Amino acid sequence: MTTNIAIDGPAGAGKSTIAKRLAAELSFIYVDTGAMYRAMALYLIRQGIPAEDTAKIEEACQSADITISYENGEQQVLLNGENVTGFLRSEEVGNMASASAPHRKVREKLTALQKKLASEEDVVMDGRDIGSQVLPEAEVKIYLTASVKTRALRRYHQLEEKGLDPSLEEIEKDIKKRDDQDKNREISPLIQAEDAVLVDSSEMTIDQVVQRILDIYKKRENGLR
Ligand code: C5P
Repeated sequence: MTTNIAIDGPAGAGKSTIAKRLAAELSFIYVDTGAMYRAMALYLIRQGIPAEDTAKIEEACQSADITISYENGEQQVLLNGENVTGFLRSEEVGNMASASAPHRKVREKLTALQKKLASEEDVVMDGRDIGSQVLPEAEVKIYLTASVKTRALRRYHQLEEKGLDPSLEEIEKDIKKRDDQDKNREISPLIQAEDAVLVDSSEMTIDQVVQRILDIYKKRENGLR
């Protein structure tokens, strides 16, 4: 039996930072499911397939082989054998991931891979539908969120640190649009699973969030809950 921790929430809530820290603390594997949707999106972009073309996307699901490996504890995503990890974080790929993720075949393909990983290893897995769809039996489920303002400011500072000159207004607009797409899609929308614990990180530091989730995990382990 493996132990699974599911962390869901909207874009920019800090899921990956928190999930990575938790995985390191617990010696679990961190699984970034967004990166899988991004790899699929990269494939579609490279093939020139638009997000609206369901038939071509279904074909692409057959020809795109997506696998995960780990290098020094860091998740690597392989697309038909090529390590594409470095190509996944662009806005273009993120927007295509959000637009193509609602397709049933895309979700079936990637959730099968996610379930397999979680059955083989102790994982901290983050995404949008992990607690609700992918790992409904996860020992701990967290819905991690923060206000739009906080999330936009975090993204703004990240881009500023990279030497860019971002527009806070544009970032806020993008975040709202992404939230809207993820929450209102028909298949596997972003929702807080019934038994997930809500953690709002707007006024919390990373350390505080990690500690809060570790406490929830330990309580669970001790059967106190
Ligand atoms: O988390 P990240 O921004 O990398 O995810 C990219 C997109 O992939 C999200 O906007 C979402 O639409 C989609 N996604 C999903 N289900 C997941 C993880 C990501 O639909 N479990």
